[in-house]
Order: sequence, then structure tokens, then C-alpha cells
Amino acid sequence: MPDQNKPSVLIVEDDGTIQALLVAVLGGEWEVRAANTGEAALRQAAERAPDIILLDIGLPDLDGLEVCRRLKANPRLEQVPVVFLTARTSGEDEIDGLQAGGIDYIMKPINPAVLKARIRNHLELKQNRDELVRLARTDGLTSLYNRRTFDDLLQREWRRLARTGEPLAVLMMDVDHFKLYNDNYGHGGGDVCLQRVARAAIGALQRPADVVARYGGEEFVALLPETKFEGAMAVAEAIRAAVASLEIPHTASKTAPYVTVSVGAACTIPLPDKDPASLLELADQQLYAAKSEGRNRAKGVNEGG
Ligand code: GH3
Ligand code: MG
Ligand code: MG
Ligand code: MG
Repeated sequence: MPDQNKPSVLIVEDDGTIQALLVAVLGGEWEVRAANTGEAALRQAAERAPDIILLDIGLPDLDGLEVCRRLKANPRLEQVPVVFLTARTSGEDEIDGLQAGGIDYIMKPINPAVLKARIRNHLELKQNRDELVRLARTDGLTSLYNRRTFDDLLQREWRRLARTGEPLAVLMMDVDHFKLYNDNYGHGGGDVCLQRVARAAIGALQRPADVVARYGGEEFVALLPETKFEGAMAVAEAIRAAVASLEIPHTASKTAPYVTVSVGAACTIPLPDKDPASLLELADQQLYAAKSEGRNRAKGVNEGG
């Protein structure tokens, strides 16, 4: 069983003696896996992404540089740092390695203490990078994806579904009379309320591919790939009901004695030349209609999904 607490190192080295040495040297500090060929390395990395890869350049099948290029072309693996290990000493090889996407280049014979120190540095840098990416993609209050991430996902799903011809639905939801909630319970109380609404919205989703994000203020959005209009309306209603059933007291609300949300839904089959923002605008119009018709309700429009 892999040790989930230790960072994992994938060693790609065809020389059995060197591989055994590396496994022995690194095994105490990290979870270590080893591959003898380029193909085996790509397979093992795809099965479970390591935290760092040590990659020999001279391999029996694929050249190490080619293995690195393929890793960097895989969106799931492109962030994994690759350190080349090689006996070759010309400066050109070093440049080739770095151009192929390697982060570092270590000459054989290997000095174990130097190798371990460099691995530690790269793992720490990667951890910091991952944390920055996470912070840039999420909303600090609710831990949901933020608007930027949602817009990226919307673009991606739009392009993907334009190819497959399947429908895409989005929901826009907005807490009813939230200004009055803040006025009554204070901004801190409002923050806690938004956190609970966010959890309820997530809990109402039905498929792993569905996503909820905080769009701003007390406004949330959901992205429902491969979802027809009826399905989107069912999720919209489920979110509305989930928030209402929290029964968070809201004595100043003109809609109900507790916190409610209004939801607008829109569904379409994406077209490659069309701007996905048009779908959000449709959902926003439906949200506006849900507000004017009395709030605490879901309304939707079907553009052909
Ligand atoms: P409606 O039912 O029409 O949606 O009315 P509303 O009062 O909810 O809408 P309005 O846009 O007037 O007010 C939104 C309020 O949300 C005002 C703003 O102070 C509050 N708000 C936005 N972001 C946050 C936040 O992060 N925390 C808290 N506590 N309040 C926030
Ligand atoms: Mg070799
Ligand atoms: Mg609002
Ligand atoms: Mg509101």
C-alpha cells in the first residue's frame, strides 16, 4: 500500500544497479516507485501522479526527453516536476532537457545527499505553487470555486460539448433579501449564512461533474454538463428546497420567515462560434423573473437542450 502521507517519487532508470541505489537512498524519506522504460514510466505516472519524477535520458525504448514532452502534454501530469538524471555531460543535453520541460538536471555519478536536498527543494516549491493555485481558484469564505474558475470551466465544457453535441445547463442563484439579513444579523452572521447556503447547494448536486461556484457577493452559479432542461430544473428546485429546509431564521425577509434563494436556469446545446456568456445571461434573466414573481422559486428557459 502506498503511504499517502509521504510525497511520492517516480524513478525512471534502466540500469538495475543505479535504480536499486536510488530506491535505497530515497526510500526512507519518500514513497518510491520505479520504472525501467519510458512506456512503463508514462503508464505508472498516469495511474497515479507522483509528486516528482527522476528521469534517466538514455532509456531502452523512448528517449527520456520524449517521455518528458509527453508528460508535459498531459494536463493531469504537466505540473509534476521532472528532474533529469544523466551521464551525458555536454551542455547541449542540459539545454535539451530543460527545453523538454525538465525543471532540473543532475549528473551521474549521483551524490545522494545532493540529490535528496534538490528533491526536497523541488517538492517544497511544488507545494507552494499548488497552494497558490488553490488560493487563486477558490473563494476564501465558502471554499467553493470562484468566478474565474467557473468561467474557465464554462469555456472548457462549452468547447467540449460543442464537439459532442450534448446539452449544457447553468444555474444562477441569489439569496433573497440578503441586504436585510446583514442589516438584521450583522455582516459576520451574513458570512456564516453564505457558508451554509454554499454547503446546501453542493449537497443538492447529483453528479460528480456538476460544479457550484460563488459568482460574487450572495450570488452562486452551477455548471451542469450533459444535462437536459428537465434535469437542470430538477437540480434548481433541489437547491432551492435544500436552502429553504435549512430554515435559517430571517425575520426581516418579505418572502419567508427563513433564508431562501431564487434560481434561474438555462439549457442549450453549445455551438462552437457562440459565446458561453450568452447562456449565463439567459439564466440571469430567469433569475430576475424568479425574483419579480415572488422569490424562493426556480425558473428556467430551454434553448434546445
Ligand atoms: P434580492 O432579494 O432582490 O436579491 O435582495 P438582496 O438584498 O439580496 O440584494 P442586494 O443586491 O440589494 O444585496 C446584496 C447584499 O449582499 C448586499 C451586500 O452587502 C451583501 N453581501 C455581498 N457579499 C457579502 C459577503 O461576503 N458577506 C456578507 N455578509 N454580505 C455580503
Ligand atoms: Mg539509462
Ligand atoms: Mg445579488
Ligand atoms: Mg439577493
